[in-house]
Amino acid sequence: LAKERGRNTYQFFSAELKSKAHEMLTLESALRQAIQQEQLRVHYQPQYSLTRRKPVGLEALVRWEHPERGLISPADFIPLAEETGLIIPIGEWVLRTACRQHKKWLDQGMRPLRLAVNLSRRQFRQNNLIEMIGEILDESGLPPELLELEITESSIMNDVENAIGTMHALREMGVHLAIDDFGSGYSSLSCLKQFPISKLKIDQSFVRDLTSVAGDAAITHAIIDLARNLKLEVVAEGIETREQMRFLKKNGCHHGQGFLFSKPLPVKKIAVLVQNWVPRFGFGRRMMPALS
Ligand code: C2E
Ligand code: MG
Ligand code: MG
Ligand code: MG
Repeated sequence: LAKERGRNTYQFFSAELKSKAHEMLTLESALRQAIQQEQLRVHYQPQYSLTRRKPVGLEALVRWEHPERGLISPADFIPLAEETGLIIPIGEWVLRTACRQHKKWLDQGMRPLRLAVNLSRRQFRQNNLIEMIGEILDESGLPPELLELEITESSIMNDVENAIGTMHALREMGVHLAIDDFGSGYSSLSCLKQFPISKLKIDQSFVRDLTSVAGDAAITHAIIDLARNLKLEVVAEGIETREQMRFLKKNGCHHGQGFLFSKPLPVKKIAVLVQNWVPRFGFGRRMMPALS
């Protein structure tokens, strides 16, 4: 009996595994098509100065507009893209699209906000990275100092020597670097001071329970202090409540990003905001909750 049950269990798992593998293959070929058929979109999420009460940047975030399944979140396809190498063409497309769009907004009179673009671990290690970014900057006409590339601790720590070389090459081009999801990965604090980075982004897992979990408040506080001592900018991600914002502001966090201010938005909606950000129109108050 036990043997039979064992076999059934085996068959069950085997069938499940097969369908999982099948699902991945289907997703992979659909993702290949998505690139060719231009189903990818870039949305933009504003980043705000918590002290100056105005937007200071936009983060480009990719989405997949699936003809049947609707808008698919990057969490559901970036890991597969990373595994299959599809992240290379996808990442290049996102970077090119975002740089062109940002230049267009600048030409339309937008204040010179920073444009943040995510680079995955595989992209960060791709051997033509510097050439690719240089070419996109030239072609789009975006000033390099307005571009900020977000990389994670794991992209760097995997091969610190090479990573430092790549980071210096990017800095020499004028591009800024930020460490995304800081605190959630593993990074050596002694290495951190050698990195030519401009910014730490506090991982949203700490921000989420900032006002309820003492440990998270302490970690957030420590990251802000670390950034200040290393003379780096610091941004908190995933700010959803005024309480979180007040805590961050009080503790000296420079910038914030989160649903409290705005979700990532499609180009059309950002364009409306951008109009309000032109100095002669003043700051769009509607967008920014009172900071007190
Ligand atoms: P990330 O770079 O850490 O981006 C921040 C994520 O937090 C975004 O999720 C954003 O929508 C979400 N977020 C922002 N504010 C809040 C908030 O207040 N509450 C909550 N719950 N979430 C908030 P999204 O757009 O789903 O992206 C997920 C991840 O996918 C990104 O995390 C990034 O690692 C990756 N990703 C997105 N676009 C790209 C891309 O173009 N290239 C690469 N390589 N990775 C990307
Ligand atoms: Mg990011
Ligand atoms: Mg992040
Ligand atoms: Mg993340």
